[in-house]
Amino acid sequence: MTTATISTSTAASRALFDRARAVTPGGVNSPVRAFNAVGGTPRFITSASGAWLTDADGNDYVDLICSWGPMLLGHAHPEVQAQVMAAVARGTSYGTPTQPEVELAEEIVARTPVERVRFVSSGTEATMSAIRLARGATGRDLVVKFAGCYHGHVDPLLAEAGSGVATLAVPGTSGVPASSAAETLVLPYNDRDAVRAAFAAHGPRIACLITEATPGNMGVVPPEPGFNAFLAETCRTHGALFISDEVMTGFRATAQGGWGLDGAVEGWVPDLMTFGKVMGGGFPAAAFGGRSDLMAHLAPEGPVYQAGTLSGNPVATTAGLATLRLATPEVYAHLDATATTIRDAVAEHLGAAGVPHTVQTAGTMFSVFFTGGPVRDFATASRTDTRAYAAFFHAMLDQGVYLPPSAYEAWFVSAAHDDRAVSTIIDALPAAAAAAA
Ligand code: PLP
Repeated sequence: MTTATISTSTAASRALFDRARAVTPGGVNSPVRAFNAVGGTPRFITSASGAWLTDADGNDYVDLICSWGPMLLGHAHPEVQAQVMAAVARGTSYGTPTQPEVELAEEIVARTPVERVRFVSSGTEATMSAIRLARGATGRDLVVKFAGCYHGHVDPLLAEAGSGVATLAVPGTSGVPASSAAETLVLPYNDRDAVRAAFAAHGPRIACLITEATPGNMGVVPPEPGFNAFLAETCRTHGALFISDEVMTGFRATAQGGWGLDGAVEGWVPDLMTFGKVMGGGFPAAAFGGRSDLMAHLAPEGPVYQAGTLSGNPVATTAGLATLRLATPEVYAHLDATATTIRDAVAEHLGAAGVPHTVQTAGTMFSVFFTGGPVRDFATASRTDTRAYAAFFHAMLDQGVYLPPSAYEAWFVSAAHDDRAVSTIIDALPAAAAAAA
């Protein structure tokens, strides 16, 4: 039963895109929203409700982007909306401490291993500040990250490296100074030997290792069993800090995030964690936190400066708090079941059409690689057939399903993805799989 309203018209989106390109580079305010990787015109969304997006031409789409993760409860959730409206009516920003930020901090502290948090406005700010804190606390400069992990557009974290061990990185994007990139060691994911070698060569200079708790930015690539525990132990041995970036996974992959997938089981606890997306409830809010003694290095308690005009904004923290309080175990059970149904159906139809594919999962997050598996790092993720994905993407879009316009992204569902949304997705799969074959 397909119930999406799809016209053949994209005229209004195309007209807006033309205007957008005249005043904004690429016509978008974040590159991943553009359709460069898949071709065509991004749809300009005018409203959203539950699991559905409506574009400027009146087309409806089941949303599998969910704003790249934040919309855990679906769009325009009535309770979140009511609390946000009430907060707006009380004034939108005071530049003073407020009660909602205290309550949101308490909620995060209760649900994760962090003891204290500081709010910022984006995940990028969270990782940038966590790294500054790690450098300040250790008195060291080097940062270790993994190829394929994205931590926001922080200069040293955009560095790339070729394959190999502990290569001192070169700038991965124009505008990043070589000096900044040279302070980042980029290693292949899931590669313990590379980690051992990097710490053996540079250990006394390494301030921190940052990793996505379970990477979602090269597609979903779960850590091999014990990998995060190994990273935490290696950092501890060498006096470096272990930063678990949970901007994507936090309160999304499980009630706690990627840490909840195996941290509680394997006993690894990060020194610092970063959060964003879900905890902002669809508003610009993010956070970093960790052990109380480490957080004491931050101004005004300590010498590491960090600040923000809109940090802990009362409307954003109200939205985040409402979202986390509504994110009950039942919500995660629904997300799990929905994700399982969708990914099983995708695998079945791609398999029937003879399209090489690998479906990988981390809690409620999943992604579909258009390559035979397993995918364990950026090199294997990069084998995905981007042309096959583009064909699949457009066939789904034409049938009212909005997937991420990139072959390397997680697919996100929400508590509002009901039978109607799921059957719209499943009904679209035969034609999309045929298009990808
Ligand atoms: N860290 C991770 C793991 C992310 O997935 C992202 C964004 O996708 C960021 C950091 C940066 O967050 P933001 O886009 O809010 O700056």
